[in-house]
Amino acid sequence: MSTSMDSPKTQRFDVIIIGAGGAGMMCAIHAAKRGRSVLLLDHAKKLGGKILISGGGRCNFTNLTAGPLNYVSKNPHFCKSALSRYPAESFIDMVRDHGIAFHEKKLGQLFCDRSAQEIVDMLKAECDQAGAQFLLDCPIQSVAAIDREGARYQIETRLGSFICESLVIATGGLSIPKIGATGWGYELAQQFGLKLVPRAAALDGFVFADEEGRSLASLAGLSIDCKITCNDRVFRENILFTHSGLSGPAALQSSLHWYPGDGITIDLLPELDCFSWFLKKKKEGSRALVRNLLAELLPSRFSDWICERHFRSELPLPQVSERALEEFCHLLKAWKLSPSGTVGYSKAEVTRGGVDTDELSSKTMESKKAPGLYFIGEVVDVTGWLGGYNFQWAWASGWAAGQVA
Ligand SMILES: Cc1cc2nc3c(=O)[nH]c(=O)nc-3n(C[C@H](O)[C@H](O)[C@H](O)COP(=O)(O)OP(=O)(O)OC[C@H]3O[C@@H](n4cnc5c(N)ncnc54)[C@H](O)[C@@H]3O)c2cc1C
Repeated sequence: MSTSMDSPKTQRFDVIIIGAGGAGMMCAIHAAKRGRSVLLLDHAKKLGGKILISGGGRCNFTNLTAGPLNYVSKNPHFCKSALSRYPAESFIDMVRDHGIAFHEKKLGQLFCDRSAQEIVDMLKAECDQAGAQFLLDCPIQSVAAIDREGARYQIETRLGSFICESLVIATGGLSIPKIGATGWGYELAQQFGLKLVPRAAALDGFVFADEEGRSLASLAGLSIDCKITCNDRVFRENILFTHSGLSGPAALQSSLHWYPGDGITIDLLPELDCFSWFLKKKKEGSRALVRNLLAELLPSRFSDWICERHFRSELPLPQVSERALEEFCHLLKAWKLSPSGTVGYSKAEVTRGGVDTDELSSKTMESKKAPGLYFIGEVVDVTGWLGGYNFQWAWASGWAAGQVA
């Protein structure tokens, strides 16, 4: 991998891509295959840092069901073109061609059997084969529009000066700054007059304030299969109580649809009409306490906790009124919580929002205002659900720009 260039003078490439993550490398492969000279610049020392930490080190690299409905964007139609022209199957074909073993974990989510490193190695090998060059550990100092030798952009870096006809921004989102995430791509968009959609940490755990937060923290470690509703979007998976609040796949998914001030509603027993279940127990002559019966359905620590707060009766079942049971069951089916926020970019998997899709061509990802300037991957206001959808957007948008840049 090249880390220094031969000549101190300005060098010209057809395409320069800033950000050598999944989207950037995908774009580099396809632009270079078209015979374009391509340079990837990244300030990180290591290639594909986010791919390496993804999916618990096994990279959930796509989802068999990926489609426009799995994405959040101000314009939900924007992602359709790229996703339909570069679907999950296209990426799976490349993974197969490289002999990478993978499996479906659940819900269409495809993971490497061995290591996420294999995905990085595959993309790097494809870049090398197509002739794309890399310059890592290369902080960018400035970008300016020019009109010289057929070039439209000049990029000054700590390692030299470059000009190019097409400039592709693939610098990703803000999450996990410690591995190199920055807001640089957003700032560059603004420099060229492109609008941004407000950004927020998403696919992130919820935090809670004051007494609600302290009380929930006592449940840390418990996991419950449930259904969460947030702004009419329903997710059925596990939640995990943590010392800082609520995590687990269902909570992370709903954070994508959560805005400050919103509540979330949790159906703790999604498969069960629990009022009928308690009535049946009553009819059968059970003399148990409600919290002991509930412990047959939910972890006993949670049952104790929720009864202590919302069903204080210590009476045996025959002495509990149907009305009290009905009210309690209603709470179990629609338990309302009020997050005060999410954990933040130190833990979030993605950034919701970003470069406004109104500013870009959905076919090529090129800016409508600045010809030759492209935005791909997470820096764009297209954010996928948890489960391989964000990588699929990185591949598809990178591929789309790679056809034309
Ligand atoms: C812990 C974690 C786990 C995840 N797991 C999954 C998963 O299993 N499946 C899934 O689909 N998605 C997952 N995601 C989301 C996924 O990683 C991202 O959506 C995806 O990597 C975005 O690709 P990208 O190429 O747009 O950006 P990135 O992969 O973030 O790449 C951006 C690149 O730009 C570089 N860069 C940033 N700023 C600058 C700058 N100023 N100058 C130069 N270079 C810069 C960075 O160093 C980086 O190499 C996960 C995210 C996290 C944080």
